[in-house]
Amino acid sequence: MAETLPRFGAGGNSDGFYAAGHKSSLLACEYLYGLGLNAYEYECTHGVRISSAFCASMRKNAELFDFGLSIHAPYYINLASLDGAIREKSVQHLLKALRAADQMGAASVVFHPGAIGEQTREQATERAAGLLEEIVRLADQEGLLQFTQLRPETMGKSGQLGTLGEVLRLCEVAESVRPAVDFAHIHALTGGGIRERRDYERLLGKIARRLGEGALDRLHIHFSPIEYTKAGEKRHRNLSDKEFGPDFEPLAAILAEQGWRPTIICESAGEQDLDAAAYAQMYQAARRDLS
Ligand SMILES: [Zn+2]
Repeated sequence: MAETLPRFGAGGNSDGFYAAGHKSSLLACEYLYGLGLNAYEYECTHGVRISSAFCASMRKNAELFDFGLSIHAPYYINLASLDGAIREKSVQHLLKALRAADQMGAASVVFHPGAIGEQTREQATERAAGLLEEIVRLADQEGLLQFTQLRPETMGKSGQLGTLGEVLRLCEVAESVRPAVDFAHIHALTGGGIRERRDYERLLGKIARRLGEGALDRLHIHFSPIEYTKAGEKRHRNLSDKEFGPDFEPLAAILAEQGWRPTIICESAGEQDLDAAAYAQMYQAARRDLS
């Protein structure tokens, strides 16, 4: 049953998780299961430093609670860098994350593509695509992309590589590269550009045109309220902060109508577990509205 519906879950561990006295992420699936959730994004944002034993335990927990797992790769990745050493380190960060994902049974490795720096956006995008091609080749040699997909994320600041168009260009490198659509980042980067249903439809339509309709079924989505300035993303917020968008309800309605099976990872600032549960409820309400 779960396979035919979206998965909802949290990115990293919430304030509530720690307040309950938990420390190890090995308790994350059980904790989130208690909130009615079924997805978890393990954050390796400061480096992939986990043992095979940890990955095996994570996989066991995920199977026990029927969870979908993903990994957020380190922030240090910059596929567009002009510096050979940074490019080589970026390759290693992604390969390490993919090996961990393989051991955990994680379906996605999400990563930030890089920074524009002293190049045009087009140059940065093509440079990143070239390196990504090399990474896919190396990962394929190790058989790491049979279950797991590489997911470049849409970013929230203009100095970063990662508009939706740029991410879709990176996805053209291989079928094992598919987008991580962070709607909060898109909202921030476009100065609050996601206001209603047709804004979501426009973005989803763009994905379908570049990658085919099939790409929409298993989207990896990041969602949270976000605060932004003219420069884009300022910080992630919580639903309890009230005034921050984007609004999940129009997207919930589209997902319910289409019957797609995306994974929605909430990255709210400390209340990502509660907000993910709220998004799941909005989705269930949208499903009920259909019948
Ligand atoms: Zn991210």
